[in-house]
Amino acid sequence: MVMNKYDRPRVLVTGGAGFLGSHLCERLLNEGCYTICLDNYFTGQRRNIFHLLDNRNFEVIRHDIVNPVFLEVDQIYNLACPASPIHYQYNPVKTTKTSVMGAINMLGLAKRVKARILQASTSEIYGDPSVHPQKEDYWGNVNTIGLRACYDEGKRCAETLFFDYYKQNHVDIRVVRIFNTYGPRMHPNDGRVVSNFIVQALKGEDITIFGDGSQTRSFCYADDMINGIVGMMNGPDGFVGPVNLGNPTEYRILELAQMIISLTGADSKIIFQPLPMDDPKRRRPDITLAGEKLGWKPRVDVEEGLKKTIEYFRSIISEI
Ligand code: NAD
Ligand code: UDP
Repeated sequence: MVMNKYDRPRVLVTGGAGFLGSHLCERLLNEGCYTICLDNYFTGQRRNIFHLLDNRNFEVIRHDIVNPVFLEVDQIYNLACPASPIHYQYNPVKTTKTSVMGAINMLGLAKRVKARILQASTSEIYGDPSVHPQKEDYWGNVNTIGLRACYDEGKRCAETLFFDYYKQNHVDIRVVRIFNTYGPRMHPNDGRVVSNFIVQALKGEDITIFGDGSQTRSFCYADDMINGIVGMMNGPDGFVGPVNLGNPTEYRILELAQMIISLTGADSKIIFQPLPMDDPKRRRPDITLAGEKLGWKPRVDVEEGLKKTIEYFRSIISEI
């Protein structure tokens, strides 16, 4: 590992001003790494990293990973990509470019400077799964021309590129498949279900359930996810993944809405809206592999995580 003048590992986080990226930057700085946050601010926010800006080991670069970047680093966490359906569907061609050209650029960088590189892949590569819960050896069920394809296929192609750079060029890769993760610093207009329901509840607005609310998701708190991601980056030699990271406790979306109404004390009504195309019906990670290889499992249960997330949104609600 190459060290800078402070003898610290130098770590690049693409998408570092986003929800998960900002938690990761904070964690790496706490561990003493020289941390470079790279972001184009498409869905990220400067407010997520304000508190890190006066740290002498923190550097911020405005850049789009669709274009190459030349840096000297020891590790790369590739998180840059909009993650919420409304945002990744806003400019689907750009979403595919971010995943595919972004992966090529970051893998090229890793190859040149011999850095280890971790890809933030996703449970979406399983599509609307016909196998439940999802294990890493399931190949998935994705509509190549649906509304979600730009994200799902982009992330699938990124995994392919990671493994081909590994096999062909011996790039030191790691791949994690992240399942629905929530917590403080999600964008209030992010559009994902946890932030939508909490913001609606705190504003006393109707809670919008898409479909009848019987579809399921399994929700992981951000701190647990960051432990898993960092654990994988620094995990055992030769274990490159892909590995599922997520909380296996599964909820129907209707149950989530009821839980958030009760935890916020809101008097919001639940309303039902049409289910978007290709919305997965069930999703739950099998995390046996992460347990065996990394000794990782989530520790924060959903009620505790939701309370912390509600507290965060309460603290910024007057600005929303
Ligand atoms: P987010 O939208 O908050 O963060 C993504 C960040 O990437 C933002 O700061 C955005 O501005 C930046 N970005 C987007 N396109 C870029 C580009 N072309 N160049 C540079 N920066 C760009 O989302 P998140 O929840 O923090 O997700 C982070 C990563 O984890 C994403 O790759 C996402 O696909 C993956 N992931 C997240 C979840 C989840 O539930 N949070 C689940 C599965 C996978
Ligand atoms: N959803 C909902 N109401 C909302 C936002 C999302 O009912 O205001 C549903 C959505 O249709 C999906 C689930 O909640 O079934 C999770 O959606 P999210 O966008 O958070 O992530 P996904 O797992 O679908 O990528």
